[in-house]
Amino acid sequence: MRFYYQCTECGLTFDIKPNVRLCPACRSAGRADRPLRGVLETICEGQPAIDPATDPIAFIHELLPVEHEFFPSIPVGMTPLWKPENLRKQLDLKNLFIKDDTLNPTGSLKDRASYLVAAFAKKYRIDNIVVASTGNAASSMAGVGAAAGIKVKIFIPDSAPKAKMVQALQYGADVTLVEGTYDLAFDKSIEYTDKYGGMNRNTAYNPLTLEGKKTAALEIFTELGKAPDHVFVPVGDGVILGGLYRGFCDLLKMGFIEKVPIIHSVQAEGSSAINRALADGDFSDPLRSDTLADSISVDVPRNGYFALKMLKKYGGAGVTVTDEEILSAQQMLASSTGLFAEPSSSSVLAGLLKARDKISNNDITVLLVTGSGLKDIEGAMKSIDI
Ligand SMILES: *Cc1c(COP(=O)(O)O)cnc(C)c1O
Repeated sequence: MRFYYQCTECGLTFDIKPNVRLCPACRSAGRADRPLRGVLETICEGQPAIDPATDPIAFIHELLPVEHEFFPSIPVGMTPLWKPENLRKQLDLKNLFIKDDTLNPTGSLKDRASYLVAAFAKKYRIDNIVVASTGNAASSMAGVGAAAGIKVKIFIPDSAPKAKMVQALQYGADVTLVEGTYDLAFDKSIEYTDKYGGMNRNTAYNPLTLEGKKTAALEIFTELGKAPDHVFVPVGDGVILGGLYRGFCDLLKMGFIEKVPIIHSVQAEGSSAINRALADGDFSDPLRSDTLADSISVDVPRNGYFALKMLKKYGGAGVTVTDEEILSAQQMLASSTGLFAEPSSSSVLAGLLKARDKISNNDITVLLVTGSGLKDIEGAMKSIDI
C-alpha cells in the first residue's frame, strides 16, 4: 500500500513526515474564529493483501500508514459491536448495535488516535508529545504514551472533569491546567510546540488523529461483514466523524462495501457549530459553547470544513439535542443496556430517539459510544438522587 497526505481543501499532496501538519497554502487563509484551514487527510492506494474476514486485525493494520511493529503493546481498538436486546425492543429496531469504545484502555475512543500517533513517534524516534484537550485526548495520549515510553505534556482547561486529570497524572504526564476554555488550551499547546518542539497531537492539526479514528469504521465493517445503514456519532471538533468517513471511503474505494452509511452528527444544543453550518451552508461567527457534555464542547470545531464537506457529499444528517435529553438518554442507556457512558457519548441515544422516524425497523443502525461514564461522575450525578 502507498500512503500520502492530501489537503482536504486544495488537494495538494505531501509525504507523511513529522512536522507536516496543515497545508501551508490553505493554513494561511485561516482565521481564529473559524475551523482550521488546510486539514490533511491520509490517502492510501493499492489493494490490501489480507482478507478482512480471515484476519481483521492484520487487515486494519494494512490500511494504516505506520507499520504494525511500531505500535505500543497496549490493546487499543477491536472493541465489541454488540446487540442491546432491551433497547432493540424498546425502539423496535431489530438491527440496532452498540459499538462500545468505552472499552479502550483509557476509556475512550481517543485511544485510536493516540495509538497511531504513538506508533508514528516511535518510528521517527520522537520522544515527547504535546496535546491540548477537553480531557479525554489528554488522558488517552498520557496512557498510550506511557505504554510506548514517550513523555507527554498536556494542556487542559481547569474545568475538565477530575477523573480525566487524575488519569493523566497517574499515567505520569506533565499536566498544565489552563484558566479558560479548551480553545485557549489548544492555542497554548501550539505556542508551546512552536517554541520548544516535540510532536503536537492536537486533534485535526495532527493529520494522524483523523486517520487513527478511521479504525472505528474499519472494525464496524469487519464485525458486520458489511456497511451499516446508519451510524450515530457524537460531534465536537468533528474528527471522529471525519475519521469514520475516511474509513468507509477507503472501504468503498477498495470495493469492500457498496455505500457509505448515513452518518448522523449528534451535537449538544450549546455546542452545535457543525450542525448549524450543515443547515446554513457554511460556518458563521462562533457562539460560546455551553453544555455539560464536556467532550463535545467546543466553540470553533477544528475539523469543521472537512466534516461539513463529507456530510454534504454523503448525505449525512445533523441531530441537535439538549442537555436534558442527553442526561435522560444517559440513564436510559445505562438502565436498559448496562452500559454507562459519559454525557457526550450518551448523546447518540438522544440523537437516535430524535431521528427515530427517519430509520426503518430493519435498518442496521450503530450507536458509537465513545467514552466511559466513570470519567465524569459529576455530570451523571445531575440526573439522580444521592
Ligand atoms: C473527543 C470526544 C468526542 C468528540 O470527538 P470530535 O472528534 O471532537 O468530534 C466524543 N466523545 C468522546 C468521549 C470524546 O472524547
